[in-house]
Amino acid sequence: MQDIRVRAHAKINLYLDVVGKREDGYHNLETIFHSIDLHDDVIIRKQDTMGITVRCEHPGVPSDAANLAYRAVECLSDEVGGIGGVAIDIYKRIPVAAGLAGGSANAAAVLHGVNQLFELGFAQNVLMRLGGQLGADVPFCLQGGAALGLGIGDQLTSLPALSNVSLLLLNPGIEISTASVFKKLNFSLTTPKKTCIIIKTHVEKRNVVGIGENLYNRLEVPVFSEYPEIFTLKNELSTQAGCYGALMSGSGATVFAVMHDANAAHRSELHFKNRVSFCTSTVTSPVGVSVY
Ligand code: ATP
Repeated sequence: MQDIRVRAHAKINLYLDVVGKREDGYHNLETIFHSIDLHDDVIIRKQDTMGITVRCEHPGVPSDAANLAYRAVECLSDEVGGIGGVAIDIYKRIPVAAGLAGGSANAAAVLHGVNQLFELGFAQNVLMRLGGQLGADVPFCLQGGAALGLGIGDQLTSLPALSNVSLLLLNPGIEISTASVFKKLNFSLTTPKKTCIIIKTHVEKRNVVGIGENLYNRLEVPVFSEYPEIFTLKNELSTQAGCYGALMSGSGATVFAVMHDANAAHRSELHFKNRVSFCTSTVTSPVGVSVY
């Protein structure tokens, strides 16, 4: 086998609370992740020349060691004492710096794909540990489906994945750095919060209406105060026919809606299509990475 093609699925957070600041500068989270069908295509090839080549046409995606996909190859190569030349082509569909873990999903796809292509034989739990060294969302992207995430989001407990729940995603074209959002977080503010238990129970019972009504993201407060247009967009999204609830994903700026069905999602997609830089209807996915 000379190459392997891997789908790298985006994630959304159905719930995200920040429960404290750690001494290492990171924050402890309580979050519920779900993989979605929206994905990048990652093609990994063996190449005769030594070294790692990353190609991606998106101007916001680096092609050097700043790319998480590049670092994923380096990480595996270091573990086994070298694997030879590797070329990676990334076809982006997931908006960049959008709260959808696009970079982490690419890294997860590379860990999964390189492990298979070079027959390295790493078990899933080892890949997830290595992924955790690359980024907090990488272990979830490798595991996929639905999960409760604690710690920095890397201590995962699987939940039953929701099958084919319709979603609509909107992004106003604002790229947001996750680190800057956490810096603005004010722990002295008492924000009304929902508890993770409620939404976790609705996920376990596959109660889509209950999920929509209990979506929560603590990071909305600092993001909306800086970008009120994202707040306005979310409010308009939540009033669409067939919308059970809307939320900002991760550190934004993408907002998503849990929709009654694909028809409702498509109707709302037409409503927003020409007004935002990114608008797509999609569904929940049971996997984070898949070879195709
Ligand atoms: P994060 O929570 O890590 O910020 P995100 O989903 O909000 O995740 P990403 O799409 O992962 O955002 O991009 C965050 C930054 O990571 C971008 O500014 C980009 O330059 C950098 N990056 C590194 N590798 C990649 C990659 N393979 N795809 C996209 N962005 C990448």
